[in-house]
Amino acid sequence: MIGVFGLQSRPVDYFAAFLDLLAAKEEYHWSAVLGDFTDDFYHLACPHCAVEVTIAIGDYGRYSAIRDWNLGDVDRRGLRPASFEELSGTGRWMYETAVRDGHEALADGIAHLFGKGECPYCASVFNIADEYAAANRPVLR
Ligand SMILES: [Zn+2]
Repeated sequence: MIGVFGLQSRPVDYFAAFLDLLAAKEEYHWSAVLGDFTDDFYHLACPHCAVEVTIAIGDYGRYSAIRDWNLGDVDRRGLRPASFEELSGTGRWMYETAVRDGHEALADGIAHLFGKGECPYCASVFNIADEYAAANRPVLR
């Protein structure tokens, strides 16, 4: 499988291989839910006030927001990406792997996913990946 990775692989091929590698590491949760950060939304409940928060990590923005069916994502707050020193465990492995293979957009998305978001409703700050992993079982996308 190592031969799949490299600077020459196209992003879409690389991402599929990346998910396979996550599954091989028994990180089934992230293998099932991780997007390639071109157009990704993650939904979770604020750990403090339980309001549903939409986390967007994509080309159009990286923010937490309240999703309003009429108005779209309102009350947006910028995400706080994790620095390399703040990453640990699976997040750090994912980040290191993407950087090593030259996929900086993927690495940057991972830094945001494993970083912090602010609840637009109560302003509490939480770790996005921790809350998301705790609240979601692997599901079909
Ligand atoms: Zn809240």
